[in-house]
Amino acid sequence: MTARILSGKEIADAIKREVADDVKRIETEHGYRPCLAVVRVGEDAASAVYVGNKVKTSEELGLISEHHHLPAETSHAELLRLVEDLNNRAEVDGILVQLPLPRQINEKEILETIDAEKDVDGFNPLNVGRLAQGQNALAPCTPAGIIEMLKRFEIKMRGRHAVVVGRSNIVGRPMAQLLLKEDATVTIAHRYSEKLAEITRQADILVVAIGRAGFIRAEHLKAGATVVDVGINNVADAELARELFSGSELEKRLNTIEKRGFTLVGDVNPREASEKAADYTPVPGGVGLLTVAMLMRNTVDAAVKRRLRKSLVNDARATV
Ligand code: NAD
Repeated sequence: MTARILSGKEIADAIKREVADDVKRIETEHGYRPCLAVVRVGEDAASAVYVGNKVKTSEELGLISEHHHLPAETSHAELLRLVEDLNNRAEVDGILVQLPLPRQINEKEILETIDAEKDVDGFNPLNVGRLAQGQNALAPCTPAGIIEMLKRFEIKMRGRHAVVVGRSNIVGRPMAQLLLKEDATVTIAHRYSEKLAEITRQADILVVAIGRAGFIRAEHLKAGATVVDVGINNVADAELARELFSGSELEKRLNTIEKRGFTLVGDVNPREASEKAADYTPVPGGVGLLTVAMLMRNTVDAAVKRRLRKSLVNDARATV
């Protein structure tokens, strides 16, 4: 069996088109464009790339985008003041503070300070709690994107066994909550889980977010499963690349290692997944592309919800 490849690009492009249409409609009908404020502190190279992508995509889709880049020595109090200022500004709809933050800053307190209505990353405990109660909430972008992808590829979730490997606040835990909301039977596994392969072999839908190149192999998979690979790992070792890829893909990967020094691979062995699974997401080109698209979706949804509520409150005041 050769598995179907679930392309994230197709889905991400469709989500972005829908967001751009919504932005146009909101501007025509309501006279504003949703605004995303992105905050970056310091000079982390990966963060610079991620933030650059987010700003560029928001501009492409017609959103207003603000980029606040603060120096590495910014104090906790200074960052807190900026977040509070963004909370208070009515024209700001979404606030994203790029992680990781420098050591002197208390990340937890910063995330808790972001107004839950503007928390487009879905990390504020209020939104995490709402999600845990099965309510509608702004959900973290990567797992929310995976749900969109599964829906759009018509992969049934209701009643099926979904196993999530990894329990981070960014991916694993919210992924499990979202799958539960779709009526899947959900198991969460993590670094201390015993007999991992016995657990993952039960999965109709397997989501892996652990950060270990090619860790999930044929022995971990049920034949015919849907495999969602969230991992993003840099592999510089040609031997490992040979275990993960074959044919023309292997040639491509070896070339990339030679040119760039590394190639991007997921947490799942793609060669073995393609032989045993029914479908799987490639790395790159799978889940990674969905995250930014869902950030845009969350920003527009946050804008509509907050501004609608505010206008309802104002209307009510006007009629008293
Ligand atoms: P994390 O380090 O915060 O969490 C890793 C989780 O994996 C932990 O819960 C740990 O218990 C579990 N784990 C580690 N080794 C394990 C093992 N051998 N068996 C079972 N469980 C194990 O990582 P994270 O932030 O959740 O990210 C996971 C991966 O997903 C990384 O490769 C990261 O780069 C990637 N990621 C991708 C996107 C995206 O595509 N947009 C977004 C976020 C993270």
